[in-house]
Amino acid sequence: MPSLEDIPALPNSKLIDRYNRKLNYLRISITDRCNLRCIYCVPPDRIPKIAHAEILRYEEILRLVRISVSLGVSKVRITGGEPLLRKGVYDFLEQLTQIDGLLDISLTTNAVLLKDNLHKIKAAGIKRINISLDTLNRNKFQKITGYDYYDQIWEGIKLARQIGFDPIKLNVVHLPGINDDELTDFARLSFEHPFHIRFIEYMPMGNSQMLTGRHLLAPEIIKRISSLGKLIPVDQSEKDGPAERFKFETALGEIGFIQPISRHFCARCNRLRLTADGQLRLCLLSDHQIDLKAALRQGCSDGRLAEIFAQAVREKPSEHNLNAGHPGNVSGQMCSIGG
Ligand code: SAM
Repeated sequence: MPSLEDIPALPNSKLIDRYNRKLNYLRISITDRCNLRCIYCVPPDRIPKIAHAEILRYEEILRLVRISVSLGVSKVRITGGEPLLRKGVYDFLEQLTQIDGLLDISLTTNAVLLKDNLHKIKAAGIKRINISLDTLNRNKFQKITGYDYYDQIWEGIKLARQIGFDPIKLNVVHLPGINDDELTDFARLSFEHPFHIRFIEYMPMGNSQMLTGRHLLAPEIIKRISSLGKLIPVDQSEKDGPAERFKFETALGEIGFIQPISRHFCARCNRLRLTADGQLRLCLLSDHQIDLKAALRQGCSDGRLAEIFAQAVREKPSEHNLNAGHPGNVSGQMCSIGG
């Protein structure tokens, strides 16, 4: 893993925070709506939806992306809510991939709508997708998400592989008492398929505090899946993001661990987030946000928006304060911030 000192300065980057982190990665939630009701993400009484008028329009998002690219952002991920639910998303993706200076554009989806839209996603120029899937059991899928979409999700995943999306990352949030009996099965998938299985630690946030105090952390998962063979570390580059990557000796795919709780990656965090309602969020786990939508809609020039953006990054906290003994107090909802 390179240290911050090893990472070359981005040419002309104006997005360097007080801790000398270069923020070149913008994650954008384009909607807070979702077609699943995952028990750990969406509270049973539901979250009030953001009014349509408050959601950034596509042209507003594209304008902010162009400005962020001029400041040093080179990587964007589109997320939600469920991004494929939003009307016009494929045209939007096409416009996004045409922005000069964006080197990496990816999409995170629950894959419910994937199968019938993969060709449009590909035609728009997206090459990499992350798919969230927390169980390999059809009945359990329905219990976790509230819907019986398991088969159509797998049809989507298989088709994505056939038509050349690479890598396909499968994101699994490990949930004690819910899917912890399946973690070895997920890891086993990497032997036969070139999937990158990403185990993600659950973070208590928003209205979803269901697992507060009951953590199942990455070191325990590593111990459990090591019964399948030796996990060999994969050489990592600056572009890799926070996952600690491994591979089983004879496997086609990879295993990765994203450990916001057991191993903060704050010191090398390069992320900014644009929420569905136009707030620039500097840290997923801090509610401090800068209202870019207000600035946009008050008629600020591109130059002024760039100044607001560049000043905002100086407010990025050094680290979050969530850990196994401290549940934190993040009130923002994952679906509107963008997971
Ligand atoms: N609908 C898309 C999807 O399912 O990938 C994108 C949005 S979803 C909020 C993004 C990711 O956030 C999913 O992988 C989900 O499992 C994860 N997530 C939601 N709440 C979480 C939490 N409290 N802790 C960790 N991950 C969470």
